[in-house]
Amino acid sequence: MWTYPLALAAISAAVALLERLVPARPSQPALRQGLWSDVAYLVFNGHFLGVGLALLAAWTLDPLLGARFDLHLASGWPLWLQAVVATVLLDFAQWTIHNLLHRVPWLWEFHKVHHSVRDGEMDWIVSFRFHWVEVVVYKTLQYLPLALMGFAGEALMFHAVFGTLVGHLNHANLDWGHGWWRYVLNSPRMHLWHHDADAVHARNFGIIFSAWDWLFGTAHLPDHPPRRIGFVGQEAMPSDFFRRSLWPLLRISPGDPR
Ligand SMILES: [Zn+2]
Ligand SMILES: [Zn+2]
Repeated sequence: MWTYPLALAAISAAVALLERLVPARPSQPALRQGLWSDVAYLVFNGHFLGVGLALLAAWTLDPLLGARFDLHLASGWPLWLQAVVATVLLDFAQWTIHNLLHRVPWLWEFHKVHHSVRDGEMDWIVSFRFHWVEVVVYKTLQYLPLALMGFAGEALMFHAVFGTLVGHLNHANLDWGHGWWRYVLNSPRMHLWHHDADAVHARNFGIIFSAWDWLFGTAHLPDHPPRRIGFVGQEAMPSDFFRRSLWPLLRISPGDPR
């Protein structure tokens, strides 16, 4: 129960230190506006929501689906192989779900919370700025393939910790492009373009691996940062944690004018 929060704390401290040592935007302050709201996302999305959803799945889905669908396909493999396969499979699932979050109108209403990051706010903490409904969508769509494969908990923990490290780096105030590794691994330079406010179509949907975007033609990596980040119309979104959590729910409720 404490492995992930401890890893999250260690990764956060390491990436925060890197931002101080080699910032991409030296004038961007560490103590900025909206920081406390992002700390609330980090604590809630980084720990309490995950634990709550795991308990909910254990109570509801496991008795219904676990015995029927668990083929234990991966359970005989060595742990390192389970970790590698789980990481690749789960990341591809996340890439696909991230595409849906941009293409399905009601899902985009929730995903806007992540894209509300403005100029001057892009740092490691915002990698956890997303709406809880988005997490429920991710976990539900990932649950069945996971149940089918029967991966060990350690393999899933490897994916969670490695994904957190890459996610923190992607949002960090760092000018890293990863050289030739950019065709495999997502980077701060590449993910900044995912937040481009002027993009007609979103690109760079990768979480850990950029390879999916290069393979499927959704990669976009000019040699300079985007002119501005955010999304069109974001002025209407409230800036604090609680009102921002309610905002998409009100917008998709029937009868609410857009
Ligand atoms: Zn997105
Ligand atoms: Zn992002």
